Parts: sequence; C-alpha cells; structure tokens
Amino acid sequence: MAGGAPRVSCPTARSPGRLQPAAPLTFFVLALFAALAALALWNRRRHLRLKAACSAAFARCYAATSPPPAFEMAYSYGEPVFQVLFASPAAMAGAADANAAFLREIDDLCKARGRRRQFKAQRAVFFQHPPAAEPVVVHCCETMRAQVGKTIVHQPQSRDYGLKPAIAGATPLAIAHCPWCGSPLPPPAAQQAG
Ligand SMILES: [Zn+2]
Repeated sequence: MAGGAPRVSCPTARSPGRLQPAAPLTFFVLALFAALAALALWNRRRHLRLKAACSAAFARCYAATSPPPAFEMAYSYGEPVFQVLFASPAAMAGAADANAAFLREIDDLCKARGRRRQFKAQRAVFFQHPPAAEPVVVHCCETMRAQVGKTIVHQPQSRDYGLKPAIAGATPLAIAHCPWCGSPLPPPAAQQAG
C-alpha cells in the first residue's frame, strides 16, 4: 500500500496574527488586583512604621524600669493592641509612672487608627503580670498535709494548727505538736517554703 496518495495535512485556515484585543473586563480585573496588592503593601508598611514607633516609645518609657517588662503588639478588629507583661504585681505597681507615659505615647501614635470609634490607649494597652503564686505551705508530715482541712484546721497567716471542732463555728482546739509525727507546731519558719 505504498502507492497511496501522500497524506497532505490539511492546513486549517489560520487567521493572520491578529491579536485579540483585551477585553475591558480583563483590564478591570488586572487593575483591581494591582490596587489590592498596592493596598496590602501600603498597609504592611504602615504597620511596620507604627510598630517601630511604638517599640521605640516602649523602649523610651521603660528605659529606667528594671527588670524591663515584655512588650507585644497585635491587632484586634483592625485596631492595634499592646501587651506589657511584668514579672510580678510589685514590678507592675512600681512602674506606674512609666505606664502612664507609655499610655500617652501610644495615644499620640495611634490616634488615627480608630475604626468605628476613637482610638483610646486605655482600651488598647494591657498591663499584665503572672498571677501571684499561692504561698506554698510545707507541713511536718504527709499525714498532716492530708488531714489539713479534714480533722485539722490550719491558719496560714498565724501558722497555727488546731483540731477541727465537732460543732461548726466553734473555735478549733489549738495543738502544739503534730498528732502523727510529734513535730512541734507551728513549725519553725525555716520549714516554710517562701
Ligand atoms: Zn506531722
């Protein structure tokens, strides 16, 4: 079957290189994407500028605070919020002047950032400290530890121990020694963990 007629590919009628004019819709979508990208970039730069300014204000206000608190900035519903974390309630109370100065600076820096209502640093800055640790009371023995609150009444302030009265509201009967291990009560101060 070699003598078959050569197959000629039938050239499809190609239109000469005529560029389809871009539809106005395509231009519109491209422009929209460009605008969104520009807006995101602008927002990002605005955020970085604000963050740098707020961090500088933080460093200024707490330059004399030792130990310095930790600082964090975030956004809540588009508005900047700040956390100033102190090591202890005492450290936070000691930095009252610095806290007031920081609030004033944040108010100035962020006053244009309110969305639905005016920005108020009082609402946006959270001064915090870890919860005060419960004082750990070390009892003379395991049995005493287990019985405190059951048969034994213990006053952490005076460190006194007493036998729990059978009648509710009656005064506990003070005890001078542990009924189980015989240790003198209250224990010497050195036995109390700080
Ligand atoms: Zn004991």
